[in-house]
This record gives sequence, C-alpha cells and structure tokens, in this order.
Amino acid sequence: MNVLVLNCGSSSAKFAVIDPQTRRELVSGIAQRLGSAEASLDWKHNGTRQTRALPGAGHDAALRAVVEMLREMGLVSSLVGIGHRVVHGGEQFSGSMLITSEVVAKVEACIPLGPLHNPPNLLGIRLAQELFPGLPQVGVFDTAFHQTMPPVAYTYPVPYEWLERYGVRRYGFHGTSHRFVARQALALAGLPADDHAVVTAHLGNGSSCTAVLNGRSVDTTMGLTPLEGVMMGTRSGSVDPAIIAHVARQGNGTEQDALDALNKKSGLLGVSGLSNDLRTIEQAAGEGHARAQLALDIFCYVLAKHLAGLVVPLGRLDALVFTGGIGENSTLVRRRVIEHLGFLGLTIDPDANDTHGRHHQGRITTSTRPQALVVPTNEELMIAMDTVEIVQGAAVSSEH
Ligand code: AMP
Repeated sequence: MNVLVLNCGSSSAKFAVIDPQTRRELVSGIAQRLGSAEASLDWKHNGTRQTRALPGAGHDAALRAVVEMLREMGLVSSLVGIGHRVVHGGEQFSGSMLITSEVVAKVEACIPLGPLHNPPNLLGIRLAQELFPGLPQVGVFDTAFHQTMPPVAYTYPVPYEWLERYGVRRYGFHGTSHRFVARQALALAGLPADDHAVVTAHLGNGSSCTAVLNGRSVDTTMGLTPLEGVMMGTRSGSVDPAIIAHVARQGNGTEQDALDALNKKSGLLGVSGLSNDLRTIEQAAGEGHARAQLALDIFCYVLAKHLAGLVVPLGRLDALVFTGGIGENSTLVRRRVIEHLGFLGLTIDPDANDTHGRHHQGRITTSTRPQALVVPTNEELMIAMDTVEIVQGAAVSSEH
C-alpha cells in the first residue's frame, strides 16, 4: 500500500514513493531546474543515486518522466493515493483533505497568501489528476496544523479591518514537520498524548518554532508569510517593519527592493556577508571571522528568545525538540540554545548532544523534565500517512 508524495515548487518537483505502514521509502527524487536547458531528474532507488538529463523539460514533461520511471520499477500499480504538499491553506484548511474540485477552488483562493508556492502546488495537483485518473489525491497543508491557534496568538495588533479585508493574521508554516516531530517526541520522552507541553524548533534554511499543547499548535513564530520569527539563512525573521520605508528612502530603492532584501539577503547571509549555509558560518567563525561569529551569536540568541516566548502559551515546558538540517546536525547551535535556556531547567548532556542527530534521535540533556531532544523530521512520511488515512476513510464511508 504505497503513496506517491509530490511537492511541486516553481522550478522543481520533489517526489517519493513511501509505504506508510513500514515507513519505507521505495524511491525518492527531484526534478529540478525545470524550464531550463539544465533540467534534470535525480533519484535514489535501492540505495543507488541516478540522474537523467531532461533538457528544456517543464513540470509536465518532468512528471511524465517520473511516472514512466515508476512504471518501469513496477510501482505504479501499488499506489493507493497521491499526497500533495500545499504551502498555504489560509483559514480554509485545518487538516489534510481529499482533493475535490471544491478543494482546488479553495487552494486557488489562497493564491494571494501564497503567491510563489500555491500556483506550482496546484499545477502538480492538476498534472497528477491527469496522469493518474481515478487515483485519490490528498492535499496536506503547511498551515493546517496551526489553525488551532487561539485569536490571541494569531491576531496582529494592527487595524482589525486588515484581518477582515485582507486576511492579515498569523498562519504559520512547516506544520507537517512540527506535527510529525511533536508526535515522535511523545513516544521518545514518554509523554501522555493528552497532557504535554512541547516546543518544536524546525531549523533549516527556513526556520520556525511552535508551541504544541496536547497535540495542538497554540502559537508559532512564522506569520502571514514565512518571513516572520527567528533569524534564517537569508530571511531576517522579525524586524521593525519601518526599516522597509527607511531603507527605501535612504537608499533610493523601492520598498519592494527592501522587502526582497529582508527575504533574500538577510539572516545568516546578511550579517556574515559570507553565506546562508550554517556549516560555512560555523567554520568561518571558528577561524576568527568576526561577522560570521556575530551571525552565529545572533542566530542562537534570537532563537532562544523565541523559544522562551513559546513557553508562555504552554505555561510549562516538558520537551524542546530540534529538527531540520540545522536542528538535526548542528551540535553547536543546540548546545548554545540550551545554555541560553538554562533558566528553564534545561542542562545539556555534551556526549548525548555529540552522538545524537539525523541518524540517531533522542535526548540531549541530562535534565528529563524539561528535556531537549533531536528528532529527524520526515514531512514526506507524514504526508504519506495522512494520505493513506484519508483514502481509507473515504473508501470506508463510500461503502456505507
Ligand atoms: P534544510 O533547509 O532543512 O535542508 O537545512 C539546511 C541547513 O542545515 C543549512 O544551513 C545547512 O548548513 C545546515 N546543516 C546541514 N548539515 C549541517 C551540519 N553538519 N552542521 C551544521 N549545519 C548543517
């Protein structure tokens, strides 16, 4: 009982075939640089990596090539459904949904909120419907997990009409990852499903943190867009919005230029002037590069401030969970953040911090309540699990 997971971006399409019961990934890959002469299809199957040039291929040709490949592997007939990652579900979706024409219309209505992501997500859905007629398709939304936030957490202190007219509110992102790792953490930390206070830190090129109370998101750091919150690879995270007008005036650029710089030229890259990649920053800081050191210091400091803030809606902290490329791999960031948060009762276990990571999940503190854990995220598996659950539910209800 396999699921094809699709994540279509503007110039790429990631895919994986997963058996949610065994949690096995049978094949995974990415079609990238779509629309260019360098377009290619890269995939991993049975432990070996392969690549194929697809010069000039767009999403359509790339997905057809993926289907052909899956057919050759004998996987097409094993598929029970297709799970699509959809970035912005606005207030329309509080959970994963079987895709119908009504659902497609609602995703279209969310395009103003996710102008970069929702159109390619929709394209993926349309192509998959054409390529796999009759196979159930499920939409899994990055924002859905955060729809349980109360008004006090999602309402910005701005003119209230902005919420009513333009949908200006906190939506939050990375919901599939936060939901997955929070669930995994319960089992690891022995926390009851109906009584836990967990903060999850998804730290990658884009980063966000979430307060999870008894399985529900009650607050999160990203907002209307993924620009808000903690410092990221190229995004500033939360800053004074008046910076935009100030820089536009002083620098003779437009406000859009300044906003673009907050998205693409800020964060680790902006402060260090070197790179958005934490590995480069850590290495340069170790070699005495002052601005790389400053970038690293701000990253850990701002992150710790946001994490501490997320304890407010929880009232207590049972577990802090690190995930994402940085959360799973950077022993340095984890140690420094835990040191900042020592006042909460967290104490780092240096050996456990060194040995845990992407391939070995577990506790990295000597303290057990609260404790900090590393849990590798697996958004594709979560999408596959949701898809099977919904497909099976739909099959049962159509039998009645
Ligand atoms: P993601 O977006 O989740 O793939 O995460 C990308 C980020 O993880 C980049 O900033 C990488 O530098 C960082 N990262 C990956 N491996 C390591 C590592 N071994 N040490 C520190 N950072 C890492």
